[in-house]
Amino acid sequence: MRIRRLKLGGFKSFVEPAELRIEPGLTGVVGPNGCGKSNLLEAIRWVMGEGSPKSLRGGGMEDVIFAGTATRPPRDFAEVSLLIERQAGDGGDEDADGESEVTRRIERGAGSAYRIDGRDVRQKDVALLFADAATGAHSPALVSQGRIGAVIAAKPVERRQMLEEAAGISGLHARRKDAEQKLRATETNLTRLNELLGDQE
Ligand code: ATP
Repeated sequence: MRIRRLKLGGFKSFVEPAELRIEPGLTGVVGPNGCGKSNLLEAIRWVMGEGSPKSLRGGGMEDVIFAGTATRPPRDFAEVSLLIERQAGDGGDEDADGESEVTRRIERGAGSAYRIDGRDVRQKDVALLFADAATGAHSPALVSQGRIGAVIAAKPVERRQMLEEAAGISGLHARRKDAEQKLRATETNLTRLNELLGDQE
């Protein structure tokens, strides 16, 4: 999977719609203090399904919406879209070449909504899409300030999570949990069925 373009509007300091083309070879963003470098990286993690406001330096998820300045009123929503290029071998059910646009939008008082190519989807679908391609909101490939120190100081179990993400197998854990739940439900149904059959004999 390759990220081709980031579009954002109303997200943190990016009050006006902005677009960042991510060309091959781009590995870092530099600029003066406070210009929004970390906000760009956070926008990528947010659209990938980040669920923790704290890891986006906020108290609540609505803190990602432009909060206003002395001269500009706050916004009511924030929207971030990521154009991705899928490659065969990315894994998952939709293992195919082609481009997809993943969008997350948050409105004050209404929470987040996700779309893939304009189709409403769940957070889980978006997280799985990225996990299958060995990336995601917690991917070690997205290196924010202080992250290098965190990687060095990580506990073995945290390092294992990083390796699993890099290997593209972290999505399998979510699928396994789903499958186990379905299995348990089926076993309960079977037990109930056997009881009913027993009653009839
Ligand atoms: P540094 O190099 O100092 O780490 P940076 O370029 O990474 O800075 P960011 O941390 O991305 O900068 O951006 C900080 C700016 O974003 C601050 O001016 C802050 O006020 C602004 N900001 C953050 N959240 C919001 C919000 N919800 N609404 C408006 N502005 C915001």
